[in-house]
Amino acid sequence: MIILLDLDEVIADFEGAFLKTFRQRHPELPFIPLEERTTTRIPEQYPAEVIPLIEEIFTEKGFFLSFEPIPGALEAATKILEKGHQAYICTSPLHKSPRCYTEKYEWVLNHLGREWTKRLIITKDKTLVHGDILVDDRPEVKGIMQPTWEHVLYTQPYNTHVKDKRRLTWQEDWESILKI
Ligand SMILES: [Mg+2]
Repeated sequence: MIILLDLDEVIADFEGAFLKTFRQRHPELPFIPLEERTTTRIPEQYPAEVIPLIEEIFTEKGFFLSFEPIPGALEAATKILEKGHQAYICTSPLHKSPRCYTEKYEWVLNHLGREWTKRLIITKDKTLVHGDILVDDRPEVKGIMQPTWEHVLYTQPYNTHVKDKRRLTWQEDWESILKI
């Protein structure tokens, strides 16, 4: 099987890194903890005047490098390959941050190693990428093509309302769920 793995919030903890920096830098401002997040885009849940402060964090040097791995994710990615499947990281860039392209590459190099950098696909349209399964935390992954992959949701608080997709976390028996 070809298994495509989203990076942010499936393998790398974007939300955690953002919240840590935001709270350190703006302790006077209210923040939204992960369990109260209801959308995939963080700025949508904050007041308009706070959005520039959020975007400043997103676009600054080193932000995409600062993410901790999601628990169990690196082990899962490695195991998929060990079981003889093809695994690729399929991630969408933040178009306002050109450096996120290189930092995503560096993150994969730092946490998964050189071989995985050859398995890194950065695209705004994941439907253009062929695969059997896409593990992604976004409730809907849309693009110009009819996808070849089945979208399996990586469960996060902001996608619990989705009922028509299979879902997993790395803390569950994901191998049975993916049937690998
Ligand atoms: Mg994601």
